Amino acid sequence: MMCLCRVCGQEKSIDLFERDSRKKNGTTTRCKDCKHLSNRKSAKAFGRLREKQKKYPIPIETDQQEFDVLFAQMDDLCSYCGCAYTSTPTIDHIQAMKNGGRHHISNLTLVCKSCNSAKNNKPLLVYYEQNALNFPQINLTSVVHHMAYFSRRTFDEVVEELEQQKRDYCEVRGWNCYATDFTRWTAYFAFLNVRKAS
Ligand SMILES: [Zn+2]
Ligand SMILES: [Zn+2]
Repeated sequence: MMCLCRVCGQEKSIDLFERDSRKKNGTTTRCKDCKHLSNRKSAKAFGRLREKQKKYPIPIETDQQEFDVLFAQMDDLCSYCGCAYTSTPTIDHIQAMKNGGRHHISNLTLVCKSCNSAKNNKPLLVYYEQNALNFPQINLTSVVHHMAYFSRRTFDEVVEELEQQKRDYCEVRGWNCYATDFTRWTAYFAFLNVRKAS
């Protein structure tokens, strides 16, 4: 029996996939090669986080295992622009370390080099609004879900925190600050929930 790997897109024999009893056909949809590659990238990235810690001596509140999960979830796509990166992705601190961001999985995500340097120390919502064309709303939504899930908060609580970070950033610069338009999201989630329920 053959299976399609969702990461490399190749059709391979089923014994080249890992077993997973939760899945319908008893295997994961990621082939063993892709899994090992992902774990190697994850180990590298975790090593780099340790390096960073020397510069910003704040505690590391995550571990290799959580990194492996993060890498598995992302399927080699940038969290912000959604591009498929070819080299090891960079770790972005959603709230910049400089602004008090933690080395905690809820504050870490994987992005391409160009998004990482473009965002720099900007709050997430400021970066999002300045890059509407490169940062689809659906990706922003996933990032907020990631933050909410790993910090055990609700979506709205995370949004409130992100709005506050944006207000602080704008205030210092004397910018007018409008709340991010979440109405489209709300409609979108209502739609998803209806689909889930039915
Ligand atoms: Zn594969
Ligand atoms: Zn990107």
